[in-house]
Amino acid sequence: MAAAIIDGKAVAAEVKERVAAGVEEFVAARDGDVPGLATVLVGDDPASQIYVTSKRRQTEEVGMRSIHEQLGAETPEDELLELIEALNDDETVDGILVQLPLPEQIDQDHVVAAIDPAKDVDGLSATNAGLLAQGRPGLVPCTPQGVIELIRDAGTEIAGAEAVVVGRSILVGRPLSALLLGADATVTVCHSRTRDLAAVCSRADILVAAVGSPRMVTAEMVKPGATVIDVGTNRTDDGLVGDVDFEAVGEVAGAITPVPGGVGPMTIAMLLSNTIAAAFARPR
Ligand code: NAP
Repeated sequence: MAAAIIDGKAVAAEVKERVAAGVEEFVAARDGDVPGLATVLVGDDPASQIYVTSKRRQTEEVGMRSIHEQLGAETPEDELLELIEALNDDETVDGILVQLPLPEQIDQDHVVAAIDPAKDVDGLSATNAGLLAQGRPGLVPCTPQGVIELIRDAGTEIAGAEAVVVGRSILVGRPLSALLLGADATVTVCHSRTRDLAAVCSRADILVAAVGSPRMVTAEMVKPGATVIDVGTNRTDDGLVGDVDFEAVGEVAGAITPVPGGVGPMTIAMLLSNTIAAAFARPR
């Protein structure tokens, strides 16, 4: 393999060390007050349970308090909105994370809109998305923030680079394109209606795939020496694979993230980073 492999686990561990140091500083400055992250899980989806358990464990590992609210799968929207209201008002809660997806009787947009933007550590509210779009400080979605950390870790200069993001979701593609633009890249965002995706991708110094289509980015689509970040997580008969054909693209790219072990570990690390930032920013 010609490309350097970007080690998401190692970068995530560094981020968590920074967060743990921040927590110690916070506790010392605030008379023993400990930052708190509230997780809310509605229903018993096994994958969501695994994610929430991992988030809670890592919250405690960095010295923060984990508060967990478990609601039944049949919970009406009103009840969830009341719980969020209570968490918004709770002085000991600095961040609120409602695990998605939600059961069908609940409108995700209503829930995200109900979270106090100062505690919106997922960065999905219209307020935080608007601040990011305007290049102003706010809470930024975790996965795209993790992608930026990985690009920097690879030693890739973002300013002036041609960056191509494949995918335009509110969770990944859109906020990532705003972050890259904010870091002075020349950004192109591709989606399912893009004409000649291969030609657009092959211009990229920085190529990020966030689609959810196994190994769709092939070696022919990659500029030699490019930094390639694979956000995709696809469960296939071969196990978990990304959106990038890792083996073939690794022969062309300058640096590449593996799946698993690339972007995945960064998402929770950035959630913890957002929580300590929210704790410092919020007057108590
Ligand atoms: P999403 O909401 O389904 O968005 C997928 C995007 O890909 C859409 O913008 C879609 O275009 C575009 N797309 C679909 N087919 C395409 C094609 N043939 N060519 C170009 N673009 C195409 O997905 P998401 O939430 O952003 O997630 C993307 C992937 O990242 C998934 O595999 C997800 O599991 C993974 N993910 C991983 C993490 C992590 O922590 N590792 C976090 C979040 C997501 P349209 O807008 O035109 O439909």
